[in-house]
Amino acid sequence: MKKFIPAFVLSLAATLLSGCDTHTSPTGRSQTLLFSESDMAQMGEASFAQMKQSLPINRNPQLNAYVNCITQRIVKQAGDTRHKHWEVVLFDSPQVNAFALPGGFIGVYTGMLNLAHTPDELAAVIGHEVAHVLSSHGNEQASRSEMKNFGLKAVDFALDMGEVEHRDMVMAALGLGAEVGITLPFSRDQETEADVVGLVLMAKAGFDPRAAVSLWQNMARAPGSQPMEILSTHPSHGSRIEELNEQIPHVMPAYQQAREDGIRECRPR
Ligand SMILES: [Zn+2]
Repeated sequence: MKKFIPAFVLSLAATLLSGCDTHTSPTGRSQTLLFSESDMAQMGEASFAQMKQSLPINRNPQLNAYVNCITQRIVKQAGDTRHKHWEVVLFDSPQVNAFALPGGFIGVYTGMLNLAHTPDELAAVIGHEVAHVLSSHGNEQASRSEMKNFGLKAVDFALDMGEVEHRDMVMAALGLGAEVGITLPFSRDQETEADVVGLVLMAKAGFDPRAAVSLWQNMARAPGSQPMEILSTHPSHGSRIEELNEQIPHVMPAYQQAREDGIRECRPR
């Protein structure tokens, strides 16, 4: 059902929005972000705590050391003072899934390790997810959704943790729709941006950016894998791989430089 937005709501929206900061994403898109970074971080932390309670956590020391090693190399390249500390948790689930939340929280499902076979491929996944956070995509999605619901709650953009409906919407905006039964997937422009920014992160961290392509080839071959954030709004596998292949030559020098400078190897099991 299509809803019409009355003109007065639009003009109210314009008035309120003119008071908002306009932001520029890492690839130069202009973004409307209605929520503060600290609100988003608080929401990320609460969502992560909830997930840690509802999903089993894998405690295998070797696996955890492996995932941590890759994550730490990636986030070191984030160069973002908003996120000084990143926490990563390995969830015991066959689902092929991974996510990152504002505030610096990363979840990797053990099922992902079966699809991202090499350290470079797993780095491509984590780089992509961290890129969503660094590019404020959750905030942007929640803001887009909020603006759609403008007539209902035009004034109060403050996040109210007690308000379940609101929290669910934001969780959905963070790519956690499956957990709350609603989906608000990242948009295609955000997915492309996360691919580009993720490639830069992994290359600077000394992971072979060409592994992003082999990761997608694995995804394309994976029969009936669960829907995950990374697959939510795809560009088709083919066009995604094409776009990645176009970007890779631009980041190869950073990768080669990082290898020359020396890196700490992350070994799988
Ligand atoms: Zn994504």
